[in-house]
This record gives sequence, C-alpha cells and structure tokens, in this order.
Amino acid sequence: GSLAWNSHRHLELFYGLPGLGAALHTANPRLPPEHVAYTIDFAGYEWLFVDPDTLPLAESLAPRLPKLRRVVVMAPGPVPATSLPDPIGYEELIAGKPGTLRWPDFDEKTASSLCYTSGTTGNPKGVLYSHRSTVLHAMMSSNGAVIPMNPDTTVLPVVPMFHANAWGLVYAGPICGAKMVFPGPKLDGASIYELLDKEQVTLSAGVPTVWLALLDYCAQNKLKMSSVKRTLIGGSAVPISMIERFWKEHGVEVVHAWGMTEMSPLGTTTRFNRGERDLPDAERFAITAKAGRPVYGCEMKIIDDAGNDLPSDGSVSGNLVVRGPWIVKGYMKGDGQGQFLKDDWFMTGDVCKIEKDGSVVITDRSKDVIKSGGEWISSIDLENAAMGCPGVAEAAVIGVAHPKWDERPLLIVVKRPEASVTKDDLLKFLNGKIAKWWMPDDVVAVEAIPLGATGKIDKKLIRQQMADYRLPSV
Ligand code: ADP
Repeated sequence: GSLAWNSHRHLELFYGLPGLGAALHTANPRLPPEHVAYTIDFAGYEWLFVDPDTLPLAESLAPRLPKLRRVVVMAPGPVPATSLPDPIGYEELIAGKPGTLRWPDFDEKTASSLCYTSGTTGNPKGVLYSHRSTVLHAMMSSNGAVIPMNPDTTVLPVVPMFHANAWGLVYAGPICGAKMVFPGPKLDGASIYELLDKEQVTLSAGVPTVWLALLDYCAQNKLKMSSVKRTLIGGSAVPISMIERFWKEHGVEVVHAWGMTEMSPLGTTTRFNRGERDLPDAERFAITAKAGRPVYGCEMKIIDDAGNDLPSDGSVSGNLVVRGPWIVKGYMKGDGQGQFLKDDWFMTGDVCKIEKDGSVVITDRSKDVIKSGGEWISSIDLENAAMGCPGVAEAAVIGVAHPKWDERPLLIVVKRPEASVTKDDLLKFLNGKIAKWWMPDDVVAVEAIPLGATGKIDKKLIRQQMADYRLPSV
C-alpha cells in the first residue's frame, strides 16, 4: 500500500510493484480516517510506503494492519522514529540494486493496482485494475485524439496518484516518453504556478477547484502560464467561465474529460472534429463545456429506469451505462451489485444526453439530480450558469424538499473577496440563461463550500449542513 502524494518515488512504485507481480493500493490520505481504515482493511498490506507527513496517519491505522511487515518512508535522509515495524528509508531500500528490470511474464489478468472511489455518494468502493486493463487504458488514453503527448510534452499531474493512478497518467505519460513533473503535497495556486514555470510544463491535469485557485493567483499577481498549451480538467463538470479564462488569460486550451475510478478512469475527452477548431471562441468553448466524445474502446449508451435503451440523438437524458476493456466488472467485497447489468454494462450513476455526433453532456449524478414536478433539473447546468456571474467564486446547487414540487433548487455561492453580488443580482443574471422553472427558489451565500477528498464539491455534506434549511416560499 501507499499513503502518499505525487512524487517521483511514488511513480516508481507503479512500475516496481506490478513488476514483481504485486499489486499497489494507493490509499487516499485525504479521506476521512474511518474511510481510509475501511479501504485498507481488505487489502492486508505487508509493505506500506508513506511520506513523512502521512506517517502519523499510518501509525493511527496500525491496529488495522495486522500483516504489516515493513514501512518505507519515501524521503531522503534519516527515517523518523515510528512505532510501525521495521522502518526503512526508500533510498536505502533501493541503494545498490540494479536500475534495470527484465519485465517478467504474467497472466495479463494479474492485478496491478487497487484504487477506491472517493466515496462521494457512500462508502468507498474498491476497483482492482489488471495489467491488461492498465495497458489498454494507457494505450488508448495517450492516443493523439485523446490526451496528446510525446517526448516534447512535460506533464504535471496535479490530480493525485491515489485518484485512479493520476487519471492513468502514471502510465500514459511514460509510454509516450513525456517528462513527468510532480507537485508533492503543495497544491495551492502559488506552488503550482512556480512549478509550471520552473519546469516549463506543457500539459497539466486536475479537478476544477485546483485551477480556480491557480487562475485567481495568476490574476492577482499578473502572471501568465507561458509554457502551458493544454490543461486536462475532469472529475467534475468544467464551468464555461473557466474554459474561457484559461484561453483568454493564458492561451491555454482546456481538454474536458469525464470518467470514473471504475473506468481507469477515462470515458470521454474533448475532441474537435475537422473544422471545429476554427470555430469562433464561444462555439469552441461550448463544445469543450460538454464532456467530450468517447475514447475508442469505451462503449456508451443511455437507458431509462426500466432498463430500456434511449435514443442517442440529444433529445432525452437517461442513465449512462458503459462497457469496455478498462471498465470494472465487479467491486471488491462484492459491493454495488446493482450497478452491474447484463452483457457487461456498468451503471455509472450519472445522468446524461448523448448527442448525434457522440458528444456526451453530463447533466447530473443520479443522486444529485433535482426532481421538480416530476421533471429533472440539472444541478451542473445551474452551477455552471451561476459561476459565470461576476462576483461569484464558487457555486453549488442542491435540491431541497418542497410540498408541491417535491424538490426545488437552492443555489449556494461563495462570493469573490470584496464582491457585493446579491440574491437579486444572481437571479437577474440567470434570467434568460436557464429554463424559467429551473430558477433557484433561493440563494444562500456561505464562506466556503465543502470539498471531498478528491477536491470535488461534497454535496452529501452540503445536504447535511442544510438539513434544517427551509425555502422562504414554503
Ligand atoms: P466518486 O464517484 O467517489 O466521486 P470518482 O472520482 O471516480 O469517484 O468520480 C466519478 C464521478 O465524477 C462521475 O461518475 C461523475 O459523476 C463525476 N465526473 C467526473 N468527470 C466529470 C465531468 N467532466 N463532468 C461532470 N461530472 C464528472
């Protein structure tokens, strides 16, 4: 197991351990401790690789690690004192060992790494990747039409390695000969900017919240991301205002990706068809704001609640199901049985439209979807529209109970420092941009919107925090 941030030593584990026929479980140190404990219970670690600052967390988990034989601290210098067994420094462990490896022959279905979903909608669920799924995913995601990379590319995965192997970049980057740059634990705007600039990064990857901090830091300090050509953004919907800011303020093209831990994780990315790149900015941004088109090898369709196929012509939303060689066929511990349908289709839990040209437009997670008068309101669309309002830094929309409509949308915003945007300003701004009956019933300004362990808005927690909230109209 590893409990660690993105670093070159952590990268080496992704090759060293599967190269022995062992599997690496990247535990997520940002999960609540009871979730970390839950995810490591089943793995039965014999070796644990930690960073100096995740060592205390590892020690607190000791009672859950009955098989642990050795803890390896991935930092230069002396090993901090610890109660964990047989501690050793990473450099000491590998000192004097050959720097080359003849890759052994394995059954291609041998497990290579284990990752847990971030538990946004319940307990985390374990997804075991095989050598086969990992190699196929790396080959297809590094395809020029998906994440373009070559030996001239310098990649900065801000997305953590414990999040689906940094979206598969730990394998896709090196097979293209790309240079990899890792940020360690520091993901604030200033630290990321410094790294981008120092290493002349050309491609970065991460969730929207990280980029919001970076864009604001650059704006405040009048800095430009001069080397970056593209940034891969996914994990949650990318607001159009962010796509626009990257392009207009930095000349950086956003590649929007949709996927899940269960899909290794890539399902779709922005793909401009011939001629689309020459479209005016606003039309290009609108294409990027969709989740993209499927990566070859990933099949997708939408179905209704009874399991019937729905048309892929953009006319209706439905439950998105997927299948392919890098998509789970079962969770660890037999969890989530209901998500595995016949003929290998996997129920993603996302609601989307699939347009005639294959573009996927994610409207919600089935658990976040707002049902008003029997019709669905997309919280993602509302959030994106609200994010475009001057003075709004962050936005989240949840459904709250309503006696007549069942649920109505509540917009929660974090204002930019010194902005004085009011509820009326926001509602006026949204007017004409969304369907009338989607208009939030209320707007609440908060200091901060809670984020989960992978930097996504934690709607479960927001719903808990707003449990006593009542709409003014009720
Ligand atoms: P968890 O499900 O625990 O959050 P994942 O990180 O695997 O773990 O999250 C996958 C989910 O994230 C998807 O099912 C989807 O709801 C959301 N997601 C990922 N990318 C996007 C995107 N581009 N647009 C909207 N939602 C996204």
